[in-house]
Amino acid sequence: MFDLELERTADWISINGYSKVAVQLPEGLKLRATEIADALNASTGAEIIILGRPCYGACDFFENYKSVADALVHYGHSTMPSLGKDPDILFVEARAEVALAESFADFVNVLPEKVGVLASIQYIGLIPDAVRVMEAAGKEVHVSAGDTRIMYPGQVLGCNCSTAEAVADSVEAFLFLGEGNFHPLAAAFGAEKKLFVYNPVTGESRNIDEIKDRILRKRFAAITVASEAENFVIIVSNKIGQNRMTEAERIKDVIRSAGKKAYILVLDEITPEALIHYRVDAFVNTACPRIAMDESARFNKPMLTIPEAEIVFGLRDWSDYRFDAIRE
Ligand code: SF4
Repeated sequence: MFDLELERTADWISINGYSKVAVQLPEGLKLRATEIADALNASTGAEIIILGRPCYGACDFFENYKSVADALVHYGHSTMPSLGKDPDILFVEARAEVALAESFADFVNVLPEKVGVLASIQYIGLIPDAVRVMEAAGKEVHVSAGDTRIMYPGQVLGCNCSTAEAVADSVEAFLFLGEGNFHPLAAAFGAEKKLFVYNPVTGESRNIDEIKDRILRKRFAAITVASEAENFVIIVSNKIGQNRMTEAERIKDVIRSAGKKAYILVLDEITPEALIHYRVDAFVNTACPRIAMDESARFNKPMLTIPEAEIVFGLRDWSDYRFDAIRE
């Protein structure tokens, strides 16, 4: 169902004469790691090294790949332009090989007149077809470029919906094409407009307001508990596209100015096991903001995002709660 572009990847390996190539896959594609390694080895003769470390986005491509191979093939995500271009890294987006479900033509009738269209990378290729159908139904459709963290117009990352923010004033609602809750929630939190989610494979449409509200209630509870904390660990990721040391230092100064203790902790993987050693009352996570938003139940202390820490320390009002987007 996902296009692994084995032929294009093999051509890239052969043309560049790589003899050892590392492949990095997100968890959902790891099942196909050996199949990919066999296919690329058979067609190029190159040794394929499978990287086992977890991988969640283009933000954490394996920077140190030259320690194990000549080149890196990173699957499942698009290039993050703000991180620069390395000619020895190939991003294979693994787009879904699907057409828009037939029910889409009927579905567009529930949309308001002015709509912004968004998608996760796997379904970004369906945007032109969706726009065609929507315009034929008389809709005014907006698809915008985002900031330099974003590769394609309309693309949404779990931490960045700048493509939605760019057209928010021109539309009444957004339509998100994709599966699951991870990316639509970024759009729902970041764009603050009505959001329609349409699964282009099944034709199912749904509303995620309830999920958003449930997360918000948990976030407000975490802020309340963290308001009583005396000691904070501020987590900084050493992943190339998640490192926000400057923001961490700013928050550290704010906490210390309030007479409380703050420590900066640099981590690779942010897990309950990695944090259990630290005797503090709360965490501020400056790495991927979705760890605090979506996975807070895994941690035994409240974990705040940067805007949530600003609320705790009076820099931001509760009514000005904001999604912790990483913008470039
Ligand atoms: S920081 Fe988190 S949400 Fe953003 S691209 Fe990386 S893994 Fe995805």
